[in-house]
Amino acid sequence: MSNFRVDLTNCDIEPIHIPGQIQSHGFLIVIDVDLVIRYYSDNLTDYITNTTFDLLGKPLPDFESLLGSNYQPNFISQLVISGRGSENFERTNPTPIDIAGSSYYLILSASNGYTLLEFEIANSNFDLDVQSMMGKSIAKILSYRNVQQLLDNAAMQVRQIIGYDRIMIYRFAEDGHGEVVAEEKNSDLNSWLGLHYPASDIPKQALELYKLNLTRLIADVHSVPSKISTSANNSDPLDLTYSQLRAVSPIHIQYLKNMGVASSFSISLKYKDELWGLIACHHYSPRFIDYKSREYAKLIGQILSSALEFRQDEDDQRTENIFKLNLEKLARQLMHGDNTESSLTEKEVTILSVIEASGAILVYNNKIYKLGITPGDEQLGDLMKWIKHTVAEPLYYSENLSAIYPESTAYKEIASGIMVSVISRKLGDYMVWFRPEEITTINWSGKPEKHVGLNANGLLQISPRHSFEVWSETKSGLSARWTLAEMSAVIRLKEEINYATNLKAGTARQMNERLKEAYEELESFSYTISHDLKNPIASIKSYAQLLIRDQSILERGQQMLQRIADRADQMNLMINAVLDYSRIGRSSMVSRPVNAGVLIADIVKDLELIYDVSKFKITVGETPELHGDPIMMLQVFSNLIGNAVKYSQYSAPAIVHIEGKKSDDRIIYSVSDNGLGIALNDLSKIFELFNRMENVRDIEGSGVGLAIVKRIVEKHNGKIWAESELEKGSTFFVSLN
Ligand code: ADP
Repeated sequence: MSNFRVDLTNCDIEPIHIPGQIQSHGFLIVIDVDLVIRYYSDNLTDYITNTTFDLLGKPLPDFESLLGSNYQPNFISQLVISGRGSENFERTNPTPIDIAGSSYYLILSASNGYTLLEFEIANSNFDLDVQSMMGKSIAKILSYRNVQQLLDNAAMQVRQIIGYDRIMIYRFAEDGHGEVVAEEKNSDLNSWLGLHYPASDIPKQALELYKLNLTRLIADVHSVPSKISTSANNSDPLDLTYSQLRAVSPIHIQYLKNMGVASSFSISLKYKDELWGLIACHHYSPRFIDYKSREYAKLIGQILSSALEFRQDEDDQRTENIFKLNLEKLARQLMHGDNTESSLTEKEVTILSVIEASGAILVYNNKIYKLGITPGDEQLGDLMKWIKHTVAEPLYYSENLSAIYPESTAYKEIASGIMVSVISRKLGDYMVWFRPEEITTINWSGKPEKHVGLNANGLLQISPRHSFEVWSETKSGLSARWTLAEMSAVIRLKEEINYATNLKAGTARQMNERLKEAYEELESFSYTISHDLKNPIASIKSYAQLLIRDQSILERGQQMLQRIADRADQMNLMINAVLDYSRIGRSSMVSRPVNAGVLIADIVKDLELIYDVSKFKITVGETPELHGDPIMMLQVFSNLIGNAVKYSQYSAPAIVHIEGKKSDDRIIYSVSDNGLGIALNDLSKIFELFNRMENVRDIEGSGVGLAIVKRIVEKHNGKIWAESELEKGSTFFVSLN
C-alpha cells in the first residue's frame, strides 16, 4: 500500500504512521462506523485457521462467529460501541479473549473514523506478581530526592517488569541529540552509559509518535511484517498512529540490526508536554511483552515523568529564589549607598551574586571593577572595545565566546560564557559576567552521520550507520548555559541601577540633571508644536474631504485623497498621544488615599463590556490602599489591565490576575496574564513612546500606554518593571510608596 521510498531528501518525511503493514506478533481487523470490516492483516489466517471466506465488506459479527461459542454473539461489536465514547478506548482496553484455546488481548483504538481491533497473545498469570511489584516500584521511585537516583532506580524497576537485556534512560538535549543518562543491563554487556546519539537517529515524525503513544514495542526485528489488505476500490492508506502493532520503518529495522538488537521497547518520558527522553530497552533475542506489562511499564514512565517535573521545578525554584533575594539586597544597597560603583562591587552582595558566574566586571565612569575570576586587564580592555563595538542589544549573552570573538580563546578557561548588560551605551557603562569553559568530551555511539550509499537500483539511499564503536569528540570553548531566570535577574538589576541613579541624579551625576532640564525644555517645545500642528492637520483633512466629493476627480485621485485623509487622522491620534504623554510631565498632581479595590473592579467591569467574558478568567487578590493621584492611578491600572486582557485574548482560557502586596515601606501591585508575552530583549523597550513589539502586530494599539504609565509611576516616585516569557505570558509590577 505504501510505495514510499526513503532517500536522502525525504528521510524526515517518511510516512511511518501509514506503513501498510503490521508486525506479525498479532493480527488486525479494521471496521468502519457501521461495524463493517474494511481492512485486515494477512496473517489473520495464521491465528484463526478456519477463515475460509473473505472478510472485507462483511459485518463484524460475521468475524465474531468464527471465535466459537464461548462468547455472546455480538460481544466484540458491543464492546466497540460502548468504548467509542471514551478517549481511545482506555476503559475497555485490554479485553481478554480466548481464540482456539489461546488467550489473547483485544486492544481497540481509533483511526480517522475507523476502529482498529488488534489481537495480541496474553501472557497470563503474570498479573499478580507485577501488581504487587508495581506498588513497591512506585514507592521506591518516589523515595529518591536526587534526580540521578530517581533515573537509576526507574531503569531497575522497568528491567524487573520486562526482563530486557539492557534498559537505558535516554535524555534529549536542546539540539535534539540524546544521551544515555542511566542504564541497567546484563553484566556481560558493554556499558553505553554516557554515550551520545545524534539527533538524526530519531526523525521528527517518530518523535511525534513517541509523544502520542507512550510505549512502543518492536518484538522481533527479524520477523516478516504482515501486509494489510483492503478492497480493490479503497485507496485510503490506513493510519496506524495509535496502533500497537504498527510495522517498523525499514531504516529503523536496519539501525537496530546494525546494533545487534533483536527486540526493542521504549517508554516515552514527557516533561511539560514535551518529550524529555525515552526509557529505551534492548533485548538481543526476540522478546514479546504483553499489553498489560507494557501498560505497567508505561505507568512507571508516567510516574518518573511527574517526579522529574516536580524535582526540576523545585531545583529551578530554589536557585531562582536565591538570585531574587540577592537582587533585593543589591537594590537596597543601591538605594542606601551613595556611590553606585561601591554599592555594586564592595558590599555584602555584589553583582557576582545575582547569577551563577565565576567572575564579573563593572565598567562604570571609564573604570573597570573586577570581581571573582576574570581575564587580565589588557584582555579586558580589548574585550570591552569589542563589546562596545558589537553589542547593540541591552542584553547580550553567549556560551561560546571564542567562536564569535576569537581573541578570547586565550582565556577560554575563564570566559567561554559571557553575559553583558548595557547600563548606558552612551556613557560606556556595562556589567559583564563570565563563566568558565566546560570541556565536554562527547562520546558518540558511532560517528554521528548518516551513511549515504547506492542501493540495488542505483539510487542514492540513506542507511543508518553500521558502526556503533565509541567515537569521541571533544568540544571546547563552551560554558554552561545561561538560564532565563538569570537573564531576567540581569535585566531587573539594570533597572534597579537606573532607578537608583535617576533618584540620585543631583549627587551622583549632575550632567544627568542638566540633561533632564534640557529634555523638559524640549518637551514643552514639543507640546507647543504638537498643539499648534492640530489646526493645520484638521485643515488638510477637511480639504481632502472636500476634494473627495468633487465628481470631476478620477477614481485613482479619489483613492489618493482618501489616503491623505486617513493619514491625517492617524497623525491626529499620534499628536493626541504625545499631548497626553507630555501633559503628565506638566500637570500638577494631588496625592490622596485611593481605594484600589473599587478602582480595579470598575476597570474590570468596563473591560467586560468590550471583551467576551466567557473566554476570560480575571481574578483579583488583595488590594491594599494606595496613595497618589486618583485619575493617574486609574490611567495606570486601566492601561496595565487593559494590556493584560488585550494581549491574552487568544489564550484559551485567558487568565489575568491582579493583586497588591504591602510590605514595610512600599506596596507592590502586579498584573499578570498568560498571553503573547514579550521577548527578553524587548523588555526594556516596551516603555518607550510608540514602541510596539513584533509579536503584537495583529492586535491594535498605539504604543503609548506604557510610556504614560511609566511616567505616572515615576512621577509618584515609584518603579515599574515587567517579567515575561514569549508565548507564556507577562507580569507587570508597580511599586509605590
Ligand atoms: P499598545 O498596547 O497600545 O501597543 P503599550 O504602550 O500599552 O501600547 O504597550 C507597548 C507594547 O508593549 C505593546 O505594543 C506590546 O508589544 C507590549 N506589551 C504591553 N503589555 C503587554 C502584555 N501584557 N503582553 C504582551 N505584550 C505587551
